[in-house]
Amino acid sequence: MIAPSKVKVEPGKLHINGQFIDAASGKTFDTINPATGEVLTRVAEGGAEDVDRAVKAARAAFDAGPWSRKLSGADRGRLLWKIGDLLMAQVEEIAELETLDSGKPITDTTRVDVPLAADCFYYYAGLAGKIHGETIPVRGPYFNYTLREPVGVCGQITPWNFPILMAAWKLAPALACGNTAVLKPASLTPLTALRLGALCQQAGVPDGVVNVVPGSGSVAGMALVRHPQVDKIALTGSTQVGQQVMREASETLKKLSLELGGKSPNIVFADADLEAAARGAQMGIFYNMGEICTAGSRLFVEQQVHEALMEKLIERSKKTIPGDPLDPKCRFGPQVSEGQMNTILKYIGKGKEEGATLAIGGNRARVGEGKGYFVEPTIFTGVSNSMTIAREEIFGPVLAVIPFKDLDDVIRQGNETIYGLAAGVWTKDIKKGHRVARELRAGTVWINTYGNYDSGMPFGGFKMSGFGRELGTAAVAEYTQLKSVWVDLS
Ligand code: NAD
Repeated sequence: MIAPSKVKVEPGKLHINGQFIDAASGKTFDTINPATGEVLTRVAEGGAEDVDRAVKAARAAFDAGPWSRKLSGADRGRLLWKIGDLLMAQVEEIAELETLDSGKPITDTTRVDVPLAADCFYYYAGLAGKIHGETIPVRGPYFNYTLREPVGVCGQITPWNFPILMAAWKLAPALACGNTAVLKPASLTPLTALRLGALCQQAGVPDGVVNVVPGSGSVAGMALVRHPQVDKIALTGSTQVGQQVMREASETLKKLSLELGGKSPNIVFADADLEAAARGAQMGIFYNMGEICTAGSRLFVEQQVHEALMEKLIERSKKTIPGDPLDPKCRFGPQVSEGQMNTILKYIGKGKEEGATLAIGGNRARVGEGKGYFVEPTIFTGVSNSMTIAREEIFGPVLAVIPFKDLDDVIRQGNETIYGLAAGVWTKDIKKGHRVARELRAGTVWINTYGNYDSGMPFGGFKMSGFGRELGTAAVAEYTQLKSVWVDLS
């Protein structure tokens, strides 16, 4: 039985220039609860005309409003802090909205997604007043300095796997640096981004500074990418969409940051604490139902501990049981949509076809009335790095276990991927841990842990996992540009 929700889900409107409005076309789309397959509510569907209105509002707010020039960084910081407070004041309601819209377990949305989103606003609230240029000594009678200025209007496009958190990772640094924004959330999960936009307004962010336009990627997303008055695009999404965005953005030469897909190696050496490694492997692939860009989807295990580790991992994974995401005891909910569930099931079929051994899972799971989009946690052993399930990002709870011989072998295989987002290493040998961390081409490496994040720690990809860094002081470079000023003193 799937529990009824306590939250009243209102229809979604576009949030443009401080107003909550219908789309110019009058079109709407349904957003579905993936745990039940039922329509949750209707949301206004932004088209090119709406994106144009939102961009013009953001442009006017940037060029003529108080936000970018009249307010000090510290003033903006105070507003960002308030947004964090408003998020925390409504943590339970927003978490439930997120769970209904995305299928993420309520314990995660309550303890992780919403608090980390608030934390991101707190972090950039503190940083907002500390963004500055430098004085630079040069030859000749000159006084030289740099100014670190906001980029302008930022188009921000987010995915459906961490809807409010990804919106926070985009909006908080952009606002701290004095930019204005048009946020286009994923059409599968638009509700919490709309709520966040409303909270920005409630906190006192001036009209037009934050606009939220839900709609499809190919129409609303593309309109944002092509719009000549948008200065920067920040996208979190698939590598394929990243390539398309980069091609289109080249027409107007926009500043870009792209956080894309991954196929991260999680490497267990024979000298590792196997209990901890099994826990890390399980969380690495099954957290958020495997719908996580940093999923440790390729588990490399040194041959001599393969059997021992698999025993522990399978025992743990059997306890990961799909359930009602509104149940506080649930750790594993549905996939985000029917389409995503079917994609995952196809990959499972491909794994069997190519000769991998199905150790557990492999099927759609039935929860409640059986209408939700649940997939069993699935583990394949006997996988080779060249099989489709080891090469392509599945974005679901499917683990490919690959044995390896020694350190050189695993570094070669670990790097043998088009992606470079993250990696894990499990060993008690400190030298080996650091060496592997250096040799893997990935934006984040976890040693004897997996899947940690912090607002202060830069996050982003190598290779086809994208470029640019979110979080930390690194994000300031993405949301500012440097101006060099020369003053003649002769
Ligand atoms: P997606 O690429 O399909 O969509 C991402 C966003 O881009 C959505 O808002 C979508 O509407 C929009 N979009 C789609 N086509 C577009 C186009 N032509 N022009 C402009 N915008 C367009 O990705 P998804 O299915 O929402 O999310 C899953 C993907 O995101 C996975 O590949 C995952 O690895 C990646 N991801 C990466 C990170 C990271 O930080 N690196 C984090 C989360 C998810």
